[in-house]
Amino acid sequence: MEQLSIDDPIFALATPWGESAIAVLRVSGEASLTLLDRCFRGKHALSETRSHTVRHGTLVDPDTDSVIDEVMAAVYKTPTSYTGENGAELFTHGSPAIISAVMELLLRSGFRQASPGEFTQRAFLNGKVDLTRAEAVNDLIRARSDRARSLAMNRLSGAVENRVNALKEAIADLLASVEILIDYPEEDITVEAGTWRSSLAQIEEQVARLLGTYTTGRIIQEGISIVIAGGTNAGKSTLFNLILREDRAIVSDVHGTTRDYLEGAACIRGVPVRLFDTAGIRRTDDVLEVEGIKRSDRMIANADLILLVVDGVTGLSEDDCALLEKYKGRPLLGIWNKTDRSSLPCPQEFIPMSSLTGSGIELLEQKIDELFLDEGSVGTGEPVIDSVRQKLLLEECASHLAVFRNALDKELPLDLLAVDLKSAMDSLGEITGAITTEDMLQRMFSTFCVGK
Ligand code: GDP
Repeated sequence: MEQLSIDDPIFALATPWGESAIAVLRVSGEASLTLLDRCFRGKHALSETRSHTVRHGTLVDPDTDSVIDEVMAAVYKTPTSYTGENGAELFTHGSPAIISAVMELLLRSGFRQASPGEFTQRAFLNGKVDLTRAEAVNDLIRARSDRARSLAMNRLSGAVENRVNALKEAIADLLASVEILIDYPEEDITVEAGTWRSSLAQIEEQVARLLGTYTTGRIIQEGISIVIAGGTNAGKSTLFNLILREDRAIVSDVHGTTRDYLEGAACIRGVPVRLFDTAGIRRTDDVLEVEGIKRSDRMIANADLILLVVDGVTGLSEDDCALLEKYKGRPLLGIWNKTDRSSLPCPQEFIPMSSLTGSGIELLEQKIDELFLDEGSVGTGEPVIDSVRQKLLLEECASHLAVFRNALDKELPLDLLAVDLKSAMDSLGEITGAITTEDMLQRMFSTFCVGK
């Protein structure tokens, strides 16, 4: 930990590299403002400027006195800055030549280039954010859709942190009442055990509920992969195009032309979707097509959702029934396609659609929404987790609680019960960062971008 809590002066380019109107370079560290003063010429020294104030000046190479750029400097001071340390943001003109010159100047002035996520890591180490909020900062930058953004904002505002802390407190209360009995063994344990069981049930339920939001969280952050499967000529490519609303797939009415798969990216109700159109799945001796079919099988095995397209004009074929049987238990939506031409009634569990005219697409989108997005937890301020780290630690907490329940049932000694509860609390403590290891922190922050 010691190595991480140093506050040596660091800098990073906070805007993307390249030509732009303005570039922002960020610095942080106890001595950062004094170091900047050596190359900043303005009316006032930055180290003597109040926090959250912007100063105008020029950046000058102190060795040669040559002016590098005219800049604005936003000054932040400990403890109210983002990192908790003294720091500044330098707004320079956005040319690569200026950015390189300023970076070189900062290096010569005693700054070092920040590693990925180091600013946020310092914010965490200085107690400005907990780990769930730090992760949310990263997710916010990487958010690819509006929903992902709103989810990250939800965590940035502390929704997960607050829920986890409340759970930790509930376990601490339980632990306290177990420990009282350790100290006063003459009390009647059977009465207490009943109360413990009911508090435990409530805590377990809350942990399970938070864990249950992981799928929604992950899907909003990373998107859903959807594979379109079905017999040749059922209309898979037409549906693929309809969802992508562009002519990427080759639509053809010769059997077996879609030999390989096609991939496209779309957004369904604000959620990124990766869409795959598989080869027409039918029995064939054609080597190329056999290879394509093998590949579709693999794709289908990894998909979040299978759309099984059935030709509504010819009805369910033997192959369709075989596919339905094969993918039983997998998330699957059946599409009864070509309703514009079909006179056969659409079976109840299918979605009636015409991929050609687009009718039925809203219903399909609604079904996808219902399957993957728990509206109740998104946008309502209810906590949603989407990091594997948080999920694994919650699972760990749940299993410690299960061990506690088991020990309680077996009437094991109270000090053993206390150990299980402490472990459950530790798992929760790791989620927010109340308990950390250097290795864990380094792994987590290394996924951040430099400058954040
Ligand atoms: P795939 O082999 O499953 O990819 O099927 P295609 O998308 O290539 O479609 C096969 C044929 O069915 C093409 O002639 C399409 O125009 C036609 N088709 C696809 N969907 C519909 C639909 O909803 N209605 C009608 N009338 N024809 C469709």
